[in-house]
Amino acid sequence: MYNNPFTLSSSDLLKFDIAIVGGGPAGLSAAYSASKKGAKVVLFEKDPSFGHNVRTSGVSWIKEMEKLGISNEYYNPIKNFSFISPNNEANMLGNDYTACVLDIKKTFQFLAIKAAAEGTTLFVKSNVFDIKRNADGRINGLKVFTPKGVADIDASLIIDASGFNSFISRKLGYVSLWQRYGVGAEYECYCDSINQDTLHLMVGQKYSEAGYAWIFPLSSNRVRIGVGIGRPESTVDPLIKLNKILESNLYPLNKLGKIQPIEVHYGMIPNEGLRKSCVYDGLMMIGDTAGQANPLVLEGIRYAIEFGQLAGRLGADSLQFASTRDSLIEYEYVCRKTLEKKIQSALKVQSRWLSLSDTDWDKEIDIIKDLTMGEFLDFIKSDFSNYKMMKLALNHPKLAARQLFDLVVNKHK
Ligand SMILES: Cc1cc2nc3c(=O)[nH]c(=O)nc-3n(C[C@H](O)[C@H](O)[C@H](O)COP(=O)(O)OP(=O)(O)OC[C@H]3O[C@@H](n4cnc5c(N)ncnc54)[C@H](O)[C@@H]3O)c2cc1C
Repeated sequence: MYNNPFTLSSSDLLKFDIAIVGGGPAGLSAAYSASKKGAKVVLFEKDPSFGHNVRTSGVSWIKEMEKLGISNEYYNPIKNFSFISPNNEANMLGNDYTACVLDIKKTFQFLAIKAAAEGTTLFVKSNVFDIKRNADGRINGLKVFTPKGVADIDASLIIDASGFNSFISRKLGYVSLWQRYGVGAEYECYCDSINQDTLHLMVGQKYSEAGYAWIFPLSSNRVRIGVGIGRPESTVDPLIKLNKILESNLYPLNKLGKIQPIEVHYGMIPNEGLRKSCVYDGLMMIGDTAGQANPLVLEGIRYAIEFGQLAGRLGADSLQFASTRDSLIEYEYVCRKTLEKKIQSALKVQSRWLSLSDTDWDKEIDIIKDLTMGEFLDFIKSDFSNYKMMKLALNHPKLAARQLFDLVVNKHK
């Protein structure tokens, strides 16, 4: 039956199979796939619109986006990669478009429309502030501030898609705040001119004390310029760092002509790997709440969509078994099988990169220069298959390169 979110007084509206907290890519994708399976789903987003408060730079991969149903009207395609250190740079020129910079608001609202079309009841400007339990202590609903007043929601399954802050799972005491994480600040800007086919990543102390800076084009005169900094390695505020970089017009920003800000973005991303467990009786964690992002290049959107969709399907299947932990455990197995080794390998490479001095970075860029485009893409996407990395570790002419690839191969032993 159609649920009208504008008629809060209807008692039918307040009873759902699945209630989702958070309307980022994970929550919206879970809502879509659970509704498609016939579950009665409600989703709450605290911001006034989906994609309103951008917390991401929006770089992803065309092949993966296509598989997940995001077509080329939602992104600017990329084929070249420029990796810049204080005194060196690797310019990888591609024949094909492989990466993309997403229009975040448009993409997230597309995901929202897909969920609504399958029957999800969507609430915006609706902050979930409390969790309800039955007499046995099992969670069975939510309390939410909505534009129509406080809503009291019953649901058999809660999906926590609240992102970095993991609101529900922390409130239940299942997880604590992330200890290792990245903080990023970014301006979306006008610039006079940029090659819109090229991503720039800048490393070394002058760009970031523990991370990297970036220039991601959305068109030939619209770019995202940002800085990401790892905690606890550095306490520097990325926005202060970014302002300094823009004030000094550091290379390669000095190639963009006039730069004028359009929007500022700020966000945090977990950097520890998967949560110990991401399912409990009546609860699933997805996206950044579950720690599914790849920490190497702060990339989480494709995982949030893929595992959000999986959680929605398996969550809907679990309803007939009262959404017990046992009935949800397959989701946890698939996440671990697909992501755990990949994230652990990425964390090893990240730990090496965080320890590099500027001079070491200049040498690391020489390793990247020697890679083919395919090898570079495998590496940056953390597609560390044992075979590919072993081949690189054995065959690469440079000792430092063999050590870098060995890191990843050893991980799989
Ligand atoms: C600086 C930075 C740069 C990044 N760049 C990239 C990139 O280039 N490519 C990439 O793939 N990934 C990138 N990421 C990571 C990516 O943004 C995340 O992995 C992804 O957004 C996770 O999706 P999610 O749905 O789990 O969480 P989110 O996108 O954070 O969505 C969570 C939603 O929940 C809502 N919410 C929270 N609490 C409540 C509540 N109590 N009630 C109601 N709603 C609530 C929030 O408002 C938010 O809309 C970046 C992250 C950062 C911080």
